Amino acid sequence: MKITMLGTGAALLDPDRAQSGILVTLSNGTHYLFDCGAGTSHNMIRAHANPVDVKLVFLTHLHHDHICDFPLFAISGWMYNRQTAPIVLGPRGTQHFCDHLFEGGAFESDFQARSAYGARKENLQAVRPDVREVSPGLAYADDDVRIDCDWVEHIPREISECFGVRMEAEGKTIAFSGDTAPCDAMVKLAQDVDVLFHECTFPEAFIEFRAKGNVGTYSHTSPTDLGKIAKEAGVKKLVATHFGHFDSTHPTLQEIAKAHMPVDLMGPHQMDDVIRDIRKNYDGELLLAHDLMRIDL
Ligand SMILES: [Zn+2]
Ligand SMILES: [Zn+2]
Repeated sequence: MKITMLGTGAALLDPDRAQSGILVTLSNGTHYLFDCGAGTSHNMIRAHANPVDVKLVFLTHLHHDHICDFPLFAISGWMYNRQTAPIVLGPRGTQHFCDHLFEGGAFESDFQARSAYGARKENLQAVRPDVREVSPGLAYADDDVRIDCDWVEHIPREISECFGVRMEAEGKTIAFSGDTAPCDAMVKLAQDVDVLFHECTFPEAFIEFRAKGNVGTYSHTSPTDLGKIAKEAGVKKLVATHFGHFDSTHPTLQEIAKAHMPVDLMGPHQMDDVIRDIRKNYDGELLLAHDLMRIDL
């Protein structure tokens, strides 16, 4: 199996990082996509992956930085002659989200115009996703993969359930946290995996700044806690991802970020602190994700 990081950023628009997305590719060429944030469809093409070959999309939660590109992904598949409905797994509300995109939804005009063509009429299933809202436990299985999930702790469950996932395929096991504060469920999902992909949204200094300001409840995992999780779960390799743009020196992004983080501290040197703090507890293999990074297992 190979894994391509399609997006390693978070909720802001970052010239160097697309929003959340991880593409898992089996040796038979089938792709499984975890999250579909803005920019991930473009990075799919950059990674030479055809959206048509994505069998399943798992949306970990319904924050925009995890779902923004789903309409683009689905419409692209339709235009590229996809013949099957994409399977979409996600929390409660995923059906509602998908039901309001195409027929009778936000893209109704596009749907009407494009479906007037004969070829598009013949593959309408490409924009009629096969949605399956999941519960903790086994989320999906086919002849090649098994996907389990559990609730993680990110935003109040009554607003949106948030899932962490564990996937087994071709004799390897990986886990992905989605967005979460440290929680036992994620440690369990990540137990002994070959690779854990875990969010690491802000370094410690940024967490402190945000705690003092009024920029939302903190519900992410600090580098220090991430090291603890990786150690406790006994993961063979840790890939930190979902970076909250703190490493950027881009002037427009910094201007926008003023309300969210200590801009004076922003820059790539923050990654040194991230490594230092993860290393307080975890001494296994460690990678900091960047867009289009590829891992072969
Ligand atoms: Zn996020
Ligand atoms: Zn989120």
